[in-house]
Amino acid sequence: MKSIRTTCAYCGVGCGIAATVTGERAVSIAGDPDHPANEGQLCSKGTYLGETVGLEGRLLDPMIGERETEWNEALDLVAKRLKDTVEQHGPDSVAFYLSGQLLTEDYYVANKLAKGFIGTANVDTNSRLCMASAVAAHVRAFGEDVVPCTYDDLDSADLIILVGSNTAWCHPIVWRRIERARERRGAKLVVIDPRRTETAELADLHVQIAPDGDVPLFNALLRTMKHSGYVDEKYLRARCSVPEGFWDQLEDQPGIPQETFREFAAMVATNPRMVTLFSQGANQSAGGTDKGNAIINLHLSLGRINREGMGPFSITGQPNAMGGREVGGLSNMLACHLGFSEAERTDVARFWQAPALCSGPGLKAVDLFRAIDEGRIKFVWIMATNPAVSMPDAAFVREALRKCPTVVVSDVIADTDTALLADIRLPALGWGEKDGTVTNSERCISRQRALFPPPGSVRADWQIVCDVAARLGFGSAFAFQSTAEVFREYAAMTALAGEHGKLLDLTDWADCSEFEYAAMRPFRWGGAHPLKRRYPTPYGKARLVSVSSTPPAPAQPALPLRLNTGRYRDHWHTMTRTALSAKLSMHRREALVEVHPEDGATYGLEQSGLARVATARGEAIYRVSLTEAQRQGEIFVPMHWSDLTASSARTGLLVEPIVDPHSGQPAFKNVAASIAPV
Ligand code: SF4
Repeated sequence: MKSIRTTCAYCGVGCGIAATVTGERAVSIAGDPDHPANEGQLCSKGTYLGETVGLEGRLLDPMIGERETEWNEALDLVAKRLKDTVEQHGPDSVAFYLSGQLLTEDYYVANKLAKGFIGTANVDTNSRLCMASAVAAHVRAFGEDVVPCTYDDLDSADLIILVGSNTAWCHPIVWRRIERARERRGAKLVVIDPRRTETAELADLHVQIAPDGDVPLFNALLRTMKHSGYVDEKYLRARCSVPEGFWDQLEDQPGIPQETFREFAAMVATNPRMVTLFSQGANQSAGGTDKGNAIINLHLSLGRINREGMGPFSITGQPNAMGGREVGGLSNMLACHLGFSEAERTDVARFWQAPALCSGPGLKAVDLFRAIDEGRIKFVWIMATNPAVSMPDAAFVREALRKCPTVVVSDVIADTDTALLADIRLPALGWGEKDGTVTNSERCISRQRALFPPPGSVRADWQIVCDVAARLGFGSAFAFQSTAEVFREYAAMTALAGEHGKLLDLTDWADCSEFEYAAMRPFRWGGAHPLKRRYPTPYGKARLVSVSSTPPAPAQPALPLRLNTGRYRDHWHTMTRTALSAKLSMHRREALVEVHPEDGATYGLEQSGLARVATARGEAIYRVSLTEAQRQGEIFVPMHWSDLTASSARTGLLVEPIVDPHSGQPAFKNVAASIAPV
């Protein structure tokens, strides 16, 4: 039996898999020893992927309402509704909501159709919920959404700082690399997190900040480094621009005990080889972009960037969060990091031969669903994601979708909470069936390959989009016959990005054959990384950005607690896949609300009893776990459960739709809440 090299379906580590098909829908999974992201290792989710490839619950044929139908009827109806909506209400009455689960090729054609041919930039993605603030911080600091690190930097770092990341659970293979650096070279680990997570338990130093306490901490740290003479003035002069008054605005109160701060500052001062990984704990905040820039400011000021074992490193949640944003999956860009200036628009329109290129940025996720509720968007096509569960204020999103005249859902699963609200359901290929590329956190581009033939009549997402495009009269621009053809067009388009000063450059792969692209690292170090030569800003210099703390939320006596949300080790998103695995489901059988024992006593909660958590938006019920891992006054709940999993622990109902002003990313942390026994 032949082993097929593919890529894990879950997180942004992007582990390579060696898969051996052992039966009709059966596969044996092992880590790919040659893949640079994981070197043969897999975590529990990747290891048990084979338990999730059955056909239970699959959407196998198109459906109009509750009626199964043929592709032609379903696609004709999608095209007709789309065309009628544009004719009657204009292109901006149409929206696409995509997903970091899609392949880069799926993203590319959906974005091209919407922005180039329909004429709307209302194309956003669930990656907005995950790492949009890191994107905005990169653009502010570097001029482009570039990541100045690779996983290799972890192997040569002496100090690794994790900000808002339970890495041991959420990015387990990155965690093993961190452990290896600690074992081999004695690297120190600092974890900055309000919770004493499984990762924080294992750190050399746990800096237990208050929710949204990141900016004061990093500002105070940078101020201390400046006063102690650790700032690399030569690097700052040569490679950075510093805004007037920058040093004066830095806080001197780190918001943590002085003893802990001194220990942290001493570790930073004495370990130049330092990597700072930041994730959702930083990004999912009303001040997420400022947090990212506070971290980048520190690295730029110390000259600890673009050198081996040094740099600020955003680790993404989803397998293709990076690929999606590079082909224009976010509503505030066109494609290949090109924006909406007249020159960029002209070049993109010429490249695509686009008849109706959109004129400016579209709506970001929270605003997009608000526009649906207000009737400004009348047609939405949702692909490979479940916003009725995962969006903040999920009850509002659900009602908005109920009101929308046309909801199209392309998905693998027949009855997700979102799919049940669709007028038209289109069956899409799942992991193990589709073929194309994904880009991980360090921008390594890997292949996902088909292991099984398509079940039922399901089609690839990119193919479905092309089928609709042809019915709209755009067939010649969407005449792709394979994902390789889509990838080659995207790779060729990056030449345009280069003409506009961007660093993304895949032109070497624009002529690749279908089987040549396997695991490409266009931004690998080794002396040639483009950021070593220049930053893609107008003057070629990186920018320090003045950032300030997120103002504390006004006290609400009825909601005295702060609610944080996050993930469990063995579940993924809304559990449409991981709940299929008996082994993965054993780790956490139900959703827990984690509460400090003193708070438990105050609010009359019992260990393993049930509690109702309420916020200004809604309420949900969880089983109580009393634990000193929580700070007093703060509680934690997981994000995964939904109606589909027959649970009342629907966390999306609780989260307010407050967003970061720069990135539009919602604040899934630090929500005002109350708790009471049920
Ligand atoms: Fe998959 Fe992420 Fe686990 Fe790697 S670390 S096996 S990519 S879930």
